[in-house]
Amino acid sequence: MKTLNNAQLVLRILKKNGYEAYIVGGAVRDQLLKRNISDIDITTNAKPYQVSKLFDAKPTGIKYGTVTVFFRKESFEITTYRIDGPYQDSRHPDQVTFAQTVIEDVKRRDFTINGLLMDEELKVYDYVDGKSDIQSKFIRAIGDPYLRFSEDAIRMLRAIYFQSKLGFQITKETREAIYDLRDKLQSVAMERVLLELVKILKEKHLKLALKTMITTEVHKMLPGLEKGIEYIATLDEMPFVDVFFTICFTLNKGIVPSKWPFSNKQKHRYLTAAKLANKKTEFNGLDLYEYGIDLCLLASRVNYMLKRERLMQNELMETYKNLPIQSELDLKLKPYDMMEITNKKAGAWLKEMQNQMVLAILNKEIENNQEALREYLIKHVK
Ligand code: ATP
Ligand code: MG
Repeated sequence: MKTLNNAQLVLRILKKNGYEAYIVGGAVRDQLLKRNISDIDITTNAKPYQVSKLFDAKPTGIKYGTVTVFFRKESFEITTYRIDGPYQDSRHPDQVTFAQTVIEDVKRRDFTINGLLMDEELKVYDYVDGKSDIQSKFIRAIGDPYLRFSEDAIRMLRAIYFQSKLGFQITKETREAIYDLRDKLQSVAMERVLLELVKILKEKHLKLALKTMITTEVHKMLPGLEKGIEYIATLDEMPFVDVFFTICFTLNKGIVPSKWPFSNKQKHRYLTAAKLANKKTEFNGLDLYEYGIDLCLLASRVNYMLKRERLMQNELMETYKNLPIQSELDLKLKPYDMMEITNKKAGAWLKEMQNQMVLAILNKEIENNQEALREYLIKHVK
């Protein structure tokens, strides 16, 4: 488990050099909740170039005043106190303005539970009333939620992400602002939306998060996912990310809206699996041959979660392992032999014949050996 020991040393070095510095954000929150700490953020009044002089540092977000510092085999994101500049399209701040005080810096952060500070002695400073929200398990926007979500609409999804991660309730005021401003999510780059959504899907309290998406109607802002989210929120067992998307697109008539910035491979996978799941249940050897084990397993799990069939994962794997042939390349009669036997030139008929042979083998009508295939060829060639 990650500790704050090295971060405390980094704070001491900054202080010894005359700067203010605190641990801030998720690390403080998770430390107070006795949860695993992932990444550690530090906020300081030292400017990026001043931080870089003291440590082995890489400018990772220099536009936003952030450098990544490497110290004793750990890395820390060190950001200079800032207030965010004007926003455009609910996206990134257009420019960064450095702030004089740490109080200004915490007030620009998203939620009270993310606005706590910790010094090198692990003493907590709370300028946003975050401690009491941690104790009562509340996600509450810092300041006016309408203002905060208008500045950066992704914060609405972040509220739901922290709910999925921590199981906290979102306060009434913050929830109502999400409902009222949900349209603004449409102006956020889909890359950011997808990133945040996938984070939500991987956390423990997903069911609670999906229910919030429904009550705030945020799910209607997620193209093609509305029906799926409504269905999945009723289940006891939550699906993994791929199964989640495939259920959604299956219930969306097999359509994957092009707005989602999936990779081509991912998109193709969801599209084919959703179509397959809608086409039939209880896949057989032929399906396995045609679509491969991965897509069949996915489509079959989706049909199971949609209560269209029983759980067939092990059976499918067993059937796949025992397929008499897995590719036309495995045919024991080669195209060259087929041409010689029939005295025909290469052409479309070859491929067709191979497919026919594979089918016959999969259907256990013939065996995959030279003799049987030669006989089959002579009988069926036109
Ligand atoms: P996680 O456990 O997911 O890492 P985190 O709280 O560390 O949670 P990050 O996304 O790593 O979240 O961001 C670090 C901190 O930066 C947050 O705690 C918050 O104070 C601030 N922050 C991040 N994104 C925003 C945003 N869009 N608006 C305002 N503050 C933000
Ligand atoms: Mg973090």
